[in-house]
Amino acid sequence: SLYEDHGVKRCKRLLVFINPHGGQLSRYSGKAVEPVFKAAGSSLTIVKTERQGHAFDYVKELSLGDFDAIVTVSGDGLIHEVLNGLAHHADPLTALDIPLAPIPAGSGNGLSLNLIGIEHGFDSASAALNVVKGRPMKTDLFSLTQGGKRSLSFMSQSLGLMADLDLDTEHLRWMGDTRFFYGMLRGIVTFNPCPIQLSMKVATEDKETMTQTFLSRIKEKTSRVKSEEVGKPSSGALPALKYLPDDNEGWVTFEDPILFVYAGQGPYVGRDYMAFPVSEPDDGLIDISVMPVTSRGDILSAIDGAEKGSNFWFPSLRYYKAHAYRVKPLSRKGNLSVDGERFPFEEFQVE
Ligand code: ADP
Ligand code: MG
Repeated sequence: SLYEDHGVKRCKRLLVFINPHGGQLSRYSGKAVEPVFKAAGSSLTIVKTERQGHAFDYVKELSLGDFDAIVTVSGDGLIHEVLNGLAHHADPLTALDIPLAPIPAGSGNGLSLNLIGIEHGFDSASAALNVVKGRPMKTDLFSLTQGGKRSLSFMSQSLGLMADLDLDTEHLRWMGDTRFFYGMLRGIVTFNPCPIQLSMKVATEDKETMTQTFLSRIKEKTSRVKSEEVGKPSSGALPALKYLPDDNEGWVTFEDPILFVYAGQGPYVGRDYMAFPVSEPDDGLIDISVMPVTSRGDILSAIDGAEKGSNFWFPSLRYYKAHAYRVKPLSRKGNLSVDGERFPFEEFQVE
């Protein structure tokens, strides 16, 4: 029936956040999105965000059970905000069980790319169809602690060149995601080392091994995807942190000067950057790529083929799967980007 198709409820009650400040709101054509929802019999509650934090406050008090999904019309930043609002709900795990569905209208739409694919990831009609027809999927989240405050991140944390190219180009939002390319060129010209100390609780750092594990797990997943259950809803508080700041057992420090660190899951973080080609949404590990300071020529070669993930194999690019990591700034000046949002350039830990 129209209502129920392979266990996917189509007539969804949707809570839709539209960020008028989103990088490429012009790409969001109401004509391509709302008619799709309505044709599927969905009901819409539309909230135009009036300020940063509006969606956070809204979902924090959400009456659970009123909506089947939360739709964000913006980029990754609004998803980050909604996620953290849900984490601050009185019943965080139940709140975090509500499916999140992005309509790409920001400059960075990493989640849409990963859900819908590189070809249609920036296409709002495809995204609308995915809201209606898609099946919810569980994903790992990153727990970031900084100055005693805990935040959730769903995609990435970056420092050095890769954070600068995003955060230092905010004034160029009119460029769409071209601003990231511009920022990249600028970063290669200035070539500033990133003043941090990075320590990791490493699970593996052998690229061959992680590739083999990835391929065999993908094979196993595709063979059981049809019968897969969505998973039991959970409730209660967020799980306690596993790694205490003073626990140093089995942690290793990266010794060479660093140009950038990109940590998270993906595979895509942008249309032309597959930062985490061997990441999985449910392996409980953080993928961390670290580019040491070598030469400008080396960086250019390292990012060659980044849209297909071939940068992964570049010899000087180090890649880790880790249970947790810590960053200590060695200077006051620097950028930390979490899901594309600016965070204080201060000591933090992720697990
Ligand atoms: P983009 O990819 O274009 O940066 P994002 O969704 O990543 O789009 O980020 C948009 C940012 O704008 C987020 O930090 C979000 O909290 C913030 N925001 C949401 N609504 C508003 C608003 N009405 N005015 C200003 N900022 C807003
Ligand atoms: Mg953003």
